[in-house]
Amino acid sequence: VFDTLMIGGGPAGAAAAVYAARKGIRTGVAAERFGGQVLDTMGIENLISVPRTEGPKLAAALEEHVKEYEVDIMNLQRAVKLVPGQPGDEHEVQFESGASLKSKTLVLATGARWRETGVPGEAEYRNKGVAYCPHCDGPLFKGKRVAVIGGGNSGVEAAIDLAGIVGHVTLIEFMDEMRADAVLQKKLRSLPNVEIILGARTTEMNGDGKRINGLTYEERASGEIRKVELEGVFVQIGLVPNTEWLQDSPIELSERGEIVVDAHGMTSVPGIFAAGDVTTVPYKQIVIAMGEGSKAALGAFDYIIRH
Ligand code: FAD
Repeated sequence: VFDTLMIGGGPAGAAAAVYAARKGIRTGVAAERFGGQVLDTMGIENLISVPRTEGPKLAAALEEHVKEYEVDIMNLQRAVKLVPGQPGDEHEVQFESGASLKSKTLVLATGARWRETGVPGEAEYRNKGVAYCPHCDGPLFKGKRVAVIGGGNSGVEAAIDLAGIVGHVTLIEFMDEMRADAVLQKKLRSLPNVEIILGARTTEMNGDGKRINGLTYEERASGEIRKVELEGVFVQIGLVPNTEWLQDSPIELSERGEIVVDAHGMTSVPGIFAAGDVTTVPYKQIVIAMGEGSKAALGAFDYIIRH
């Protein structure tokens, strides 16, 4: 039985483990893939105090830091069910492997994943011009031509943000109108280096084998195929929280499926905390996930000494 068990081993789960272990309590981390989204990242230039690093290097450093302490790391464990205990009792997490673990407190840190278009070229040119995070990769396209796919709030925010950095932005929306808030649309339309293409279905991301150099779309009304020349594409069609396994649990989720947390990182179930991209906390970033993971672990410790 653990005092605190983290489900997820990305920046949030790793930070929570370090903070919990430093309190001298029995700490475990169970993760499908230790390192999380960081493993899929190339350059990282916004982890404050580390001017530049790479995803796999940061993931290894996270693991190394956690291993400085007495933490039980259980990798390749996919949680499939949460069975909350009665007040004062332990909570149980069941895994795909058939294993199950019990802990007085939990920190749910299963992260999120970017929704992909699935068109040819997207996977091939990922990190070679195909990007998902404007805060992370925007500056890499300084002065260049990029497209943003998606006209919801995140797509339009990304296009406005990028327009201030890159040379030109083409926003591509599948529907005949954008879903973003009117104020954002108005702001976007006021920018001189932005073109908006509505009713367009992206069909392919083109490249020379090394990097992306264009995007092909179908004009839905006419069925005509057109091509945009560019150096980068930001896919902004949604960030999906990894909470499918919590659907039948009493943990309160937002409309978008994110775990609702309070100022201490506690969920709607006492003793169960959550942190990082999987929660309602806005701006999904490494440094934020680390801060939120630390906070949730301190919240869990606080809970333990009171119960
Ligand atoms: P994650 O990193 O998503 O980790 C989730 C953990 O939970 C993983 O260990 C995963 O295996 C595990 N997990 C998921 N489901 C289950 C389950 N059912 N059972 C058990 N374990 C499970 N941020 C920046 O700050 N700077 C950048 O430059 C940057 N670049 C990025 C580039 C890319 C391509 C991507 C995809 C993201 C980038 N981000 C960047 C965002 C950053 O990676 C995330 O904000 C951060 O990793 C979130 O940390 P997390 O711990 O909340 O979740």
